[in-house]
Amino acid sequence: MQPEATVRLPEENIRELVVKFFLAHHLNQPQAESMANMLTAAQRDGSLSHGLQRLPGTLDTMAHPHFNKQAEPVAERITSVFTRVDAQNGFSCLAVERGLPNLTESAREFGVGILAIRNGFHSTALWPLVEKAASLGVAVMSMNPTHSYVVPTGGSKALLGTNPMAFAWPRPNKRPYVFDFATSAAARADIAMRKNAGQQIPVGWGVDKDGQATTDPAAVLAGAMLPFGSHKGSAISTMIELLAGPMIGGRTSRDCMQFDQGADAAPCHGELFIAFSPELISGPEAMQSAENLFSGFNEQEARLPGDRRYAIRDVSAREGIPVSTSLLNRILALIP
Ligand code: NDP
Repeated sequence: MQPEATVRLPEENIRELVVKFFLAHHLNQPQAESMANMLTAAQRDGSLSHGLQRLPGTLDTMAHPHFNKQAEPVAERITSVFTRVDAQNGFSCLAVERGLPNLTESAREFGVGILAIRNGFHSTALWPLVEKAASLGVAVMSMNPTHSYVVPTGGSKALLGTNPMAFAWPRPNKRPYVFDFATSAAARADIAMRKNAGQQIPVGWGVDKDGQATTDPAAVLAGAMLPFGSHKGSAISTMIELLAGPMIGGRTSRDCMQFDQGADAAPCHGELFIAFSPELISGPEAMQSAENLFSGFNEQEARLPGDRRYAIRDVSAREGIPVSTSLLNRILALIP
């Protein structure tokens, strides 16, 4: 197969393109900028399933009957450690950006901070915002339900979401340690990408509509996905449903699916962020002890999650961010 033609563009040009796209579709400026930050970061770091290829699909989300293009979320400090932000049925990332200062302040002052987002349409990667929080010196985890595409272990019907979880740990004079992945065997966007590329998927990612194992991505998208790690992934995914659903007054993945009303929009749900200050909880030795742990990875040349992205980020900074020309043309054609 021929490699896809790409162009490399400066980061600022990509951000401007995304803002222009959203403003042309009447999204307010703060949401347009917030979405541009997320999609540009993903494209820059080689997280392609959550980069510019997400842009055309946002039109379906913005066409959802409850989507609010004028949302202006406001952070409410409910207690000294707990902040809530209602995303007002707009894109969730603006609500998170507006809640992050309270989250990190609470963690630094009291050792822990909790941020609960409600009513946000969400389809972006989690790592950009946990990395941002960790860059401010706190450890942070984030999780959310999605749409009910995943069969719980032992069951036969999709009930759980692909429920991603991310975690970031601050590192003195280094970029944070960050992981971010779905609790399904693969992210749905990756299955869709393989379908579009005419590729098969590995066994264990999903089943067809009759519950039979398959390597056909189209059959899995029409059938159901599987959790990672069998019963372990199923239980972690259930925890995410509970903590980022009922606990914060948000929807479960099944409720999100019902709310979608067949619009094929991004799921509209809550998100939970919990931040900790290792230094306040146990003193500066916490940071050194963590560095000793990370050295153990380096000694055996085991890479840390995040290292691949950081390496791609450095290349993007030097040479520009690669974008497939066909995707770029598709996006340009969608700007009226
Ligand atoms: P992957 O299975 O690709 O795992 C990604 C994570 O694992 C990254 O942190 C990655 O670091 C790390 N990693 C991968 N390979 C290795 C390795 N060999 N050694 C060490 N670390 C490794 O992720 P998914 O496909 O499950 O998810 C991809 C994205 O999809 C995530 O960003 C997630 O947020 C997003 N998503 C979003 C949803 C939403 O609700 N909005 C729903 C589901 C998924 P690195 O990046 O450096 O490779």
